[in-house]
Amino acid sequence: MTLDTLNFQTNYLSLNNEFYDMTDPTPLDDPYLISFNTHVAKLIGLESISGDDPRFVDLLNGTFIPRGVRPFSMCYAGHQFGNYAPRLGDGRAINLGSINGWHLQTKGSGETLYSRTSDGRAAVPSSIREYLMSEAMHHLGIPTTRALGVIGSQTKIVRNNIEQAAIVMRLSPSWVRFGTFEYFYYFKEYDKLQTLTDYVIAESYPHLKDDEDRYFKFFSEVVERTAKLIAKWQSIGFCHGVMNTDNMSIAGLTIDYGPFSMLDDFDYGFVCNKTDKAGRYSYGEQPNVSYWNLTMLSKALTPIIDKERMQKKLDDYGNFLYPNAYIDVMRQKLGLDLKLDEDVELITDLVGALQDAYVDYTNFFRTLSHYDSDRMPLFDIAMNPVVIHNWLELYDKRLAKETRSQSDRQKEMLKTNPKYVLKNYMLQEAIDLAQKGDFSSIETLLHIAAHPFDELPEFEHFAHETPEEHKNICLSCSS
Ligand code: AMP
Ligand code: MG
Repeated sequence: MTLDTLNFQTNYLSLNNEFYDMTDPTPLDDPYLISFNTHVAKLIGLESISGDDPRFVDLLNGTFIPRGVRPFSMCYAGHQFGNYAPRLGDGRAINLGSINGWHLQTKGSGETLYSRTSDGRAAVPSSIREYLMSEAMHHLGIPTTRALGVIGSQTKIVRNNIEQAAIVMRLSPSWVRFGTFEYFYYFKEYDKLQTLTDYVIAESYPHLKDDEDRYFKFFSEVVERTAKLIAKWQSIGFCHGVMNTDNMSIAGLTIDYGPFSMLDDFDYGFVCNKTDKAGRYSYGEQPNVSYWNLTMLSKALTPIIDKERMQKKLDDYGNFLYPNAYIDVMRQKLGLDLKLDEDVELITDLVGALQDAYVDYTNFFRTLSHYDSDRMPLFDIAMNPVVIHNWLELYDKRLAKETRSQSDRQKEMLKTNPKYVLKNYMLQEAIDLAQKGDFSSIETLLHIAAHPFDELPEFEHFAHETPEEHKNICLSCSS
């Protein structure tokens, strides 16, 4: 497949025109390539293209519109920090349609009907962050959108500083959000709500298409996918930062990367979003917030699904769907093959110990993956080793009940606990260089992102704890 033979589907446009607005991209001035991901290109059948092809820049910039593409922006609403915003939508994203089930979208392509008072643009730093982090999340085994490439330009935009505008091309199996449902519910357009639900079932839950009870089962599966997604975020130490309902994927994916962060030292209360003064979206609150967001989704679905049945499913989320999903992923991180009831306490105690230990979250589990009853390597990485020591007493007892050999346990743990995650300071270093015209660190981070569980001796320094001065970076949403 070449850029000329790409075959776009535009199923979303078969919906009523209240679901979207036809919008042409507004190109940036003097665009240049920052990075291009050949692995992602293969997802849409682009085998032979290289990022050096100038038309790739034109594709992202909107000056080359492939045959059959009719660009559009999607409409949605959402609860932002708990407050309902009736009309959000793709304020800076333009959709091209889908290929092989991947919906292509350029973010930063200029004003749309949904831009409100903003400029429809995205800055270079946040675009590089989304580009790299979505790739890292994918290779960590976390459902996520992907990104094909990113371009910069000479177009200037006003943020905290004057920045250069960029465009990132994102791909997703679905761009529908909880907030898309809220839009039609709050405007009392229940027929469109039902049409949307049918569309989403066909696209993201096709096995339910002919089920008589499909609407309730659809809601149930959204709840289940969300529980698993958030459990994975928590286990890997990912903080999203802006879990508004418009940033919650109906397909259970990580979407809309903004001021996200990986945990440095474990801290339940860590907040990565500068505007989140109350800590609504802190690391530790993410499971509760997703419950709240699912509750808002259930409210929006009341015209077509029985309220009590949905409430029961939401209760299940809190009572066992989320807790079990979390315990399952943490068991894997601890290398526990058997499922024992006592594991819940072991894991709860571990979270308490980590909170007091001042230890790099990623480093702790990677070091634990080599554990052979010598505790020194773990004591060396914690500022408060006593709590680690106390917890290891419990862990040793629990390991004694395992039937798997130590080396098999270690092997599994090394495939579960990454050596490399993209910390904010690493992203920032690559961004600083990119802004001086040097994109080499972006390629390095792309490589690291694709090999989180491997030993990469030349990048060993990135596996160390975050340098003290770079810990707990808090970023702003406006980018
Ligand atoms: P976010 O929380 O970044 O996903 O964005 C929340 C809403 O604001 C979405 O509807 C975005 O499309 C919109 N938005 C954010 N930044 C801009 C911008 N620079 N121009 C237009 N709309 C924006
Ligand atoms: Mg968003």
